[in-house]
Amino acid sequence: MTAIDDLPPLRDVIARHALSARKSLGQNFLLDLNLTAKIARSAGDLRNTDVLEVGPGPGGLTRGLLAEGARKVVAVEKDARCIPALEEISLAFEGRLDILEGDALELDLSKHLTPPVRIISNLPYNVGTELLTRWLDPPEWPPFWTSLTLMFQLEVAQRITAQAGEKHYGRLAVLAGWRTDARIVMELPPEAFTPAPKVRSAVVTLNCLAKPRFPADPKILKDVVARAFNQRRKMLRASLKGLRPDIEDRLIAAGIKPTDRAETVDIERFCALARTLEQT
Ligand code: SAM
Repeated sequence: MTAIDDLPPLRDVIARHALSARKSLGQNFLLDLNLTAKIARSAGDLRNTDVLEVGPGPGGLTRGLLAEGARKVVAVEKDARCIPALEEISLAFEGRLDILEGDALELDLSKHLTPPVRIISNLPYNVGTELLTRWLDPPEWPPFWTSLTLMFQLEVAQRITAQAGEKHYGRLAVLAGWRTDARIVMELPPEAFTPAPKVRSAVVTLNCLAKPRFPADPKILKDVVARAFNQRRKMLRASLKGLRPDIEDRLIAAGIKPTDRAETVDIERFCALARTLEQT
């Protein structure tokens, strides 16, 4: 018997602690422990690694992370109703689960973790993109984590992993692809969750690159990409004209046709443009 075998089925845990799912907290639970173990394994070898889990809920994925050998799991949960259920897991995996009650958007989580750190979460959909954007844009690179393995709605997962020229390519794909290797590792139907959401979901793994793929100032790159994709149907000379009076020359210097649209420009050329804009 392992510690995970001693724990009751998740449906019993949910019933005993009256954890009716709340839409406002993005609660769609994973109750199949084979599936949560598979998600944990998709993140790579967890031994000698601290794992940050945002939104453990009743703890299905948490159990998978611990059973797969994570050195320590730090689990941040906003819903106070889930804490007693998580404490039962903490007892079974003595000393390896730290539970923080609070809002992941408000807490400084890195200080609770020792490198190497992987972030693995079935994220609440309402805050998932905001968290990802923050993790991709820390004050210094490399960040405190080495990989992110995160559940998103399929369409968001496609927006993170798209390549230039593809339908879902945009700001998220550029910022994710600039500093990580991002790919979809698993797709899940709505029925995998309780309650079932309306749309399909996908797990995305983003492996941190030691250095950004191409040099660029993060602030300038973010500004260029935000402007370019804000008006994605416009030619770049129009969507970026507020940046510089000589934007056409800067675009040409970066190897971009001023009449191109943002969706055709790859990360390398966005970075080249950011570098030309750094020069006075
Ligand atoms: N990990 C669990 C699972 O896979 O079954 C639950 C996933 S559920 C999609 C998202 C969880 O995030 C919920 O438990 C919810 O209460 C929690 N949550 C929502 N907003 C949060 C926030 N801002 N900070 C921390 N947890 C949050």
